[in-house]
Formats: sequence, C-alpha cells, structure tokens
Amino acid sequence: MTRLVLLGGGHAHAVVLRKFRDFVSKNLDVVLVNESPIHTYSGMVPGVIAGHYAAPDAQIDLARLARDAGAQFIPGRVLRLDPAQKKVMLEGGDALDYNVVSLNLGSVSAGLPAHAIAVKPFEGFFARWRELIEKGPNAPRIAVAGAGAGGVELAMAMTFALRGRGEVVLFSDRQVLPPAVWVRVRPVLERLGIGLRTTAPEDFDATFWVTGASALPLLRESGLKTDARGYVLVDARLRSVSHPDVFAAGDNASLEGADLPKSGVYAVRQGAVLAENLKRVVRGMPMLDYVPQKTSLSLISCGAKYAIASRGPWSAEGMWVWWWKNWLDRRWVAKFR
Ligand SMILES: Cc1cc2nc3c(=O)[nH]c(=O)nc-3n(C[C@H](O)[C@H](O)[C@H](O)COP(=O)(O)OP(=O)(O)OC[C@H]3O[C@@H](n4cnc5c(N)ncnc54)[C@H](O)[C@@H]3O)c2cc1C
Repeated sequence: MTRLVLLGGGHAHAVVLRKFRDFVSKNLDVVLVNESPIHTYSGMVPGVIAGHYAAPDAQIDLARLARDAGAQFIPGRVLRLDPAQKKVMLEGGDALDYNVVSLNLGSVSAGLPAHAIAVKPFEGFFARWRELIEKGPNAPRIAVAGAGAGGVELAMAMTFALRGRGEVVLFSDRQVLPPAVWVRVRPVLERLGIGLRTTAPEDFDATFWVTGASALPLLRESGLKTDARGYVLVDARLRSVSHPDVFAAGDNASLEGADLPKSGVYAVRQGAVLAENLKRVVRGMPMLDYVPQKTSLSLISCGAKYAIASRGPWSAEGMWVWWWKNWLDRRWVAKFR
C-alpha cells in the first residue's frame, strides 16, 4: 500500500483531487490535511467583502471533494514535516507517515504586527470584517496595509461596502503593481476617496494586513532545500530538489531558475501537472515538466461591479471586465461542486 499525503487544500490540490477521481485504488491511500474543511477562493474574496457574493459562493468543500476522489480528509493544522522520517506532525499530537507527500499550503502575509488583522485564513478575516461592520463604530476608520492587487482590491471593496460611512486608507512603502496597471488603479482609488500613505502613525479602528507573501516557517524548518526566501525549491516536475518523495506547488513552492509571481493562476496551472506527476510517481512512470506561461491575466475588481484587466503590456477596464471576471471566478468554483 502506498500512502500519498496532500498537505494543504489550496488551488493545486483541489485540481489534483478532481483529477484523482478515477485513480485512487485499493493499493493507494490518499489523505488530504487542511486546517479547515473548506477552501475560500481568493479571487472572490473582495467580492464577498463588497457584498456581491455570499461567503459560500466563494468556497470549495474540501471534505466532500476528498470524499468524491476516494481520499480521506483530515481536518488539522500541519505543525512539522520530517522528510528524513517521512512523517507529518499535526497540531494536537497526531502524526502521519507517508510514501509520497505533496505541499500546497500557500503563504502568509509578511511581518504581521500584533494589532493587525491577517486576511488569511480568509474565514477568520470574514468574521472580523462582519464584527467591525455590525458591532464596530458607526463610521469606522480602516487601514489596509499593502498596495498589491489583493490590498487595492480589498480597500476598494471595503469602501464600496461602507457606502460613504467611514474611511479607508491604503498604506504601502512602495509601488507594487506594474506601472501599466497602476495608471489605471490610481485614478479609481482617488475617485473612491481612498487615501494613499507610506507610513501608518495614525490610530485606526482596524488595520488589515495584505502585504506581500512570505514563506511558512515550517518549510525551512523541515530541512527541505528552500530558496533564499524560504520556499521549497522544486524542479520542473514540481519535485523537491533535495527529497524526491516530496512535491510542492503554488505559493509554497519555488521553481528552480524561475521567479514566478505568488498568484493563484500559477498554482492552478501547476495543479494539472502535479496531478499527473503524482499519478506517475506512484506507477513508477516518467514524469511531465511544468512549463510556466510567460504572462498571466490579472483582474482587479474595483469595489463596484467594475474591474481592471491586464496581461503583459495590454490593459482594459470597465463594467464588462467585472462581468468577465465574475464569469471566470464562478466557473472555477463550480468545477469543484
Ligand atoms: C485578497 C486577495 C485576493 C487575491 N486575488 C487573487 C486573484 O484574483 N488571482 C490570483 O491569481 N491570485 C490572487 N491572490 C493571491 C492568491 O491568494 C495566492 O497566490 C493563492 O491563494 C496561492 O494558492 P495556493 O494554492 O498556493 O495556496 P492557498 O490558496 O493559500 O491554499 C493553501 C491552503 O492551505 C491551508 N493551510 C495553510 N497552512 C496550513 C497548515 N499549517 N496546516 C493545514 N492547512 C494549512 C490553508 O487554509 C489553505 O486552504 C489574492 C490574494 C489575496 C490576499
């Protein structure tokens, strides 16, 4: 019996489970571990905050997805990975042995201060947002730290949800978005009255932390070879360069020789190759190479049903872009229902 353990139910492992429906057999034991039985799709999170979607519209039922694939779902937090002993340690003391393990645990926001609210896990963030809106001050003053795509989308979604009641200020010490996107985003921020600051000396009712991705400490602590930022270094097969029975995809992986953005789009594409390679490693067959796309489509929602699209040097904006994004996002989540 071979045991394949999937750590984290991110985009890549959701794809793996969908492609494993006809693969799991008596000789293969597949286990998925995730801290929550649901996975919230980040692309729709700003839409949930703006009120365009209910939270379940943006969520994938991982427990059911695993069950449909013939896999076992274990709700729990991964604390430690020991690739030398081929063991995973979970919060609460349970341990899992594996023959092959695959990591899709995502990333965390860099430098979260004690007073700030992390946006990941999104389920906790939704609860804090609801609390602020329902029980907080009548006109809350909100800070959003980080002006990457996620930060600007959330600042605009919060402003839309407040409907003129309260204030949102965006903090960033540098311009993160590409210039071609920023020239479209900046006027929208101004139109919505979202202040843009470099430092945060003021008092706010809530500070939401959406700064750039940073690696989960357990990756480096595991002894797996990582890149300088602490992400698991993988080869083109999405296989750890130091431990051949460890695979990784999505934000927690770093493809050797490439500097890919930490974005769900890449995690999804890697998921398809990962699924195939996990099947092949179990069967002892030669594996496929993952070849990253040169550019990817970026869609930034602007609070109201209006969005900005860009791909390489091309960009566009309008209500039609929002409806396009809505169609793509809903279609993605529906694949796992
Ligand atoms: C507000 C916001 C909006 C975004 N919008 C977009 C977008 O529109 N398009 C895009 O491409 N990217 C977007 N991103 C970036 C995107 O969220 C990430 O790049 C993407 O989620 C990475 O996918 P992943 O599959 O690697 O991991 P994730 O989607 O983060 O999934 C990891 C899973 O592992 C679980 N997990 C983590 N740690 C543990 C642990 N210790 N034990 C057990 N389980 C654990 C988590 O709960 C989660 O379910 C956005 C980010 C933010 C913050």
